[in-house]
Amino acid sequence: MTNIKPSLLDFTLKELQEVVKPAFRAKQIYGWLYHQYVQDFDDMKNIPKTIKEELAQKYIVNPLKIVNKEVSTDGTIKYLLQMQDSKTMEAVWLKMKDTQFDENGEVVQEAKYTICVSTQVGCKVGCSFCLTAKGGFTRNLTVGEIVAQVVTLKRDNEHKHNRMINIVYMGMGEPLDNLDNLAKAIEIFKEDDGLCISAKRQTVSTSGLSNKIDQLGAMDLGVHIAISLHAVDDELRTELIPMNKAHNINSIIEAVKRFPIDTRKRVMFEYLVIKDKNDDLGSAKKLVKLLHGIKAKVNLIYFNPYPGTNYDRPSKEDMVSFADYLIKHGLLCTIRDSKGIDISAACGQLKEQSKL
Ligand code: SAH
Ligand code: SF4
Repeated sequence: MTNIKPSLLDFTLKELQEVVKPAFRAKQIYGWLYHQYVQDFDDMKNIPKTIKEELAQKYIVNPLKIVNKEVSTDGTIKYLLQMQDSKTMEAVWLKMKDTQFDENGEVVQEAKYTICVSTQVGCKVGCSFCLTAKGGFTRNLTVGEIVAQVVTLKRDNEHKHNRMINIVYMGMGEPLDNLDNLAKAIEIFKEDDGLCISAKRQTVSTSGLSNKIDQLGAMDLGVHIAISLHAVDDELRTELIPMNKAHNINSIIEAVKRFPIDTRKRVMFEYLVIKDKNDDLGSAKKLVKLLHGIKAKVNLIYFNPYPGTNYDRPSKEDMVSFADYLIKHGLLCTIRDSKGIDISAACGQLKEQSKL
């Protein structure tokens, strides 16, 4: 049994300043962690040996190891990451926009990336379409394990600390089921002396725990939310997401209306389109009605099939007519292009494959 230690990535700068004295040393260490992405105490060059030795007895630097990596032709990279207790989870590096060059071949705009982060090993919610749910729930990720996903992926892609990155909490697990650790990770990402990723660049995706949406709102962190709606009537939604019984569509819509949203922004509603389940224009019509009066944006997602599932991917024609209907009726709508489709990038799929 390995000796499991807390990580330096568990700490806000203020907390680290309680642990490391004098305070400027803590700031220097923060720089090594978030600007240089060091993995080892030895690499913190300007920190006195005594401080490093003391810290190394109690803490580790980064609790994650990359154990598998799948690179897609579209620039998506899916990572399988192992924690100290040898459990694994996934994080995905998504290329959102290619580098732009001018006619002389000079870079005018750097490529843009988003990191998809996990918050739990497995998930309690048990959605019938989701591969992560199949393995049940194992445990919450610690703050450091959430933070380390971003540090590890930026490091592996040599992405400088001051280059902009977006974070979506859309990996394995239900973020609001691990609310305290999630909230602290969001704060750590925001640290001016760390990665300095504003809350506006962070989006929490939830299957709709309405009471926890209120709790997240009350924390006033400034993050965006994305609601995994997937169905417009409670019967189908309960088939897809069993806890819809306790948190029905109406309770979610009401919670969204109470959520503090930046006036320039919209709430994203994710709608997983499954062939012959929810891909008809009747559903599109109900969706328009349901979202009436909310500053919403709909993201239509193709169901991504995997061996053993009873659900099918919708046709492109049905997807496009669904989207057209929403747009004609005044809703902003995008179709999520299946990034990394050649590497099965829907959540949980790399981890489950590695067990086959
Ligand atoms: N638990 C949170 C966040 C993680 S799931 C939530 O459910 O919102 C992230 C997204 O992946 C969700 O919108 C989910 O519906 C979607 N997803 C899960 N399985 C999928 C599959 N097989 N194909 C496409 N999207 C899937
Ligand atoms: Fe959990 Fe989200 Fe998968 Fe549902 S879709 S089981 S909430 S990870």
